[in-house]
Amino acid sequence: MNRARRWLGLEKRSSFVNNYFDTANLKSSIYMSVIVIVLEAWMIISLLRRLAMGDDSRTPEWYVQHLLWYSVFLATAVCMLVFAVCFLKGIVTNHLPGKIIMICFATVAMAFGINVSYSDYTKGEQILCFVVMAVFVMGLLNWRPWISITISLALFLLFYKMMENAPGIEMSYATQVNFFTVWITLVMVSMAVYLQRLSEAEKDEKLEKASYIDELTGIPNMYQFRRRASAILKNEGFEGKLFLYLDVINFKSFNEKYGFDSGNVLIQELAQNVSIIFKDDLYARYSDDHFVVLTDRKDVETRLKKLNMMSVSMHHDTSLTFKVGSYAPTDVSADPTIACDHARYACSKIKKHFGLNYLEYDKPMDDLFHKRQYIITHLHEAIAEGYIQVYYQPVVWSKDRSLCGAEALARWIDPQYGFLSPADFIPALEEYKLIHHLDRAILEIVCRDLRDSLDHGHNVVPVSFNFSRLDFELTDVKAEVEELAARYDIPAEYLHMEITESALTTSDLQLKHTVQLIQNMGVQLWLDDFGSGYSSLNVLKDYNFDAMKIDMVFLHHFKENEKSKAILSSIMSMADLIHMDTLTEGVETEEQAQYLSEIGCQRLQGYLFGKPMPLDELRDRFGC
Ligand code: C2E
Ligand code: CA
Ligand code: CA
Repeated sequence: MNRARRWLGLEKRSSFVNNYFDTANLKSSIYMSVIVIVLEAWMIISLLRRLAMGDDSRTPEWYVQHLLWYSVFLATAVCMLVFAVCFLKGIVTNHLPGKIIMICFATVAMAFGINVSYSDYTKGEQILCFVVMAVFVMGLLNWRPWISITISLALFLLFYKMMENAPGIEMSYATQVNFFTVWITLVMVSMAVYLQRLSEAEKDEKLEKASYIDELTGIPNMYQFRRRASAILKNEGFEGKLFLYLDVINFKSFNEKYGFDSGNVLIQELAQNVSIIFKDDLYARYSDDHFVVLTDRKDVETRLKKLNMMSVSMHHDTSLTFKVGSYAPTDVSADPTIACDHARYACSKIKKHFGLNYLEYDKPMDDLFHKRQYIITHLHEAIAEGYIQVYYQPVVWSKDRSLCGAEALARWIDPQYGFLSPADFIPALEEYKLIHHLDRAILEIVCRDLRDSLDHGHNVVPVSFNFSRLDFELTDVKAEVEELAARYDIPAEYLHMEITESALTTSDLQLKHTVQLIQNMGVQLWLDDFGSGYSSLNVLKDYNFDAMKIDMVFLHHFKENEKSKAILSSIMSMADLIHMDTLTEGVETEEQAQYLSEIGCQRLQGYLFGKPMPLDELRDRFGC
């Protein structure tokens, strides 16, 4: 049944498919109209010539009638040509006039065919003009089959009746058969072309949809969002509009707990919620568990609260909430990509802020945003120009406070922004996956400085450098360390690599392997910020660190907090049991240093002994 409907062209067609047919017909009509224009112009010229040469074999009425026919046909062909060219060039976008012109053209062509062929037939000639016009109208233009079958049948029957009734001429049996064979063939050809075009159109529609729709969730993707957002701003103006960036908090823990497939189902459900709450707006999946919306400012916070209520109640054991950043565009030609970036930036500001779920991008944020953009785009220049420098913070033995090492800390001294601290640039470089360029540059400076100290016979102490977890994904860390140590000929015992605790997961076998290879080279591995995260003890169990750096959080309110002291003391005992060296960071008072020394912490680092400083200053103060 469905197949029959399809063959007859009775099925409902999407607007994409309709447009496809209209466009294809307009393309064919260009060839057709050119042929008709040339032929009819030629016919008109030859008639006029005959008339001018005083031909009197035809009556003046005959001339008028024929010139009129040719001119009308020529005029419709010209109209069709002009419209088709304008449409295909994008000057006109409405399909309707094209359809009307095409129907007019088809009617004139068929009437012309019938007229000419009837007069030929009555003179005993072939009925070729009728057949040619039928091929033109039905073969080159594509109508739904039921339309072409009905109309062509009506026309063929009409013409058949005319031939049958033509005075004084007997229609032969062969002519009758041939006549209807032409009709059947024409119907079959036009149906075949129609079906082929239909499946091409459907295939194109699928492809088109795939490029507009997010595969996982079925909601629009960013490609569609950007195109439509620009159009909305242009048509509706920018005032009162807001770009929203939505980030689901706790999605990662849900994913870890229930697995990837359940995570995907959850994203689909969340997308569904977004599409319900913002049903009249433009929304899209940005990436992973992130969505963007272009909406009106009115009631936005109420709608977001509703969205959160829907999402929280979905999974009782994982509280899923959306954190949302927004950005109000400032003109109609605002770039949707940048607008989403601003909203995303606002969202990142509240990511770790418990209880605050919505924040709008404002002027101070804009300054920070531009600073971050500057950092991202100027990193390579800063490295090449030497704006990236290394400051060394002394590390001392707790027993005698003599220098036992130094930590290399990055500083960016910029001609435009002045002094930039790691808090300004490290998060941005991590977010844009550029951190490995910085870390490599720092390690290179460290190696160069160590070589310089060795060459000049200074008292050399090991230097620890910070590597980000991301470095291990972005580059071959082991090869880099090996290459730089070899290039500057630095014995491995002068190099300590610090990796922060929160960066480590116990399940990452690849990371464990790389870290082990680096240790095998003789580079010590130090666990940074011990106690600041929640995986401290597992991490100790799973990696073979040489030393741990105890985070400065334990020294806050040290004086009043007896518990901090007890915890610190237990950490030292535990480290002793598992044969790890200890260093406490952030030592600022004599009292702290005293206590840490008593409980067996071997090394100390903090403002009490020196802030991070340029190498020359370190050399002056510590004679190294
Ligand atoms: P971190 O590795 O824990 O470095 C210690 C931070 O504590 C340094 O901040 C240092 O200046 C500060 N500090 C040292 N002693 C004291 C003290 O007594 N009191 C207080 N309040 N603070 C103290 P800085 O240099 O701003 O670095 C911040 C963080 O940036 C570092 O924390 C590290 O995680 C990261 N970082 C710094 N340089 C690099 C680098 O080259 N690569 C990577 N990946 N990260 C870096
Ligand atoms: Ca560190
Ligand atoms: Ca630290």
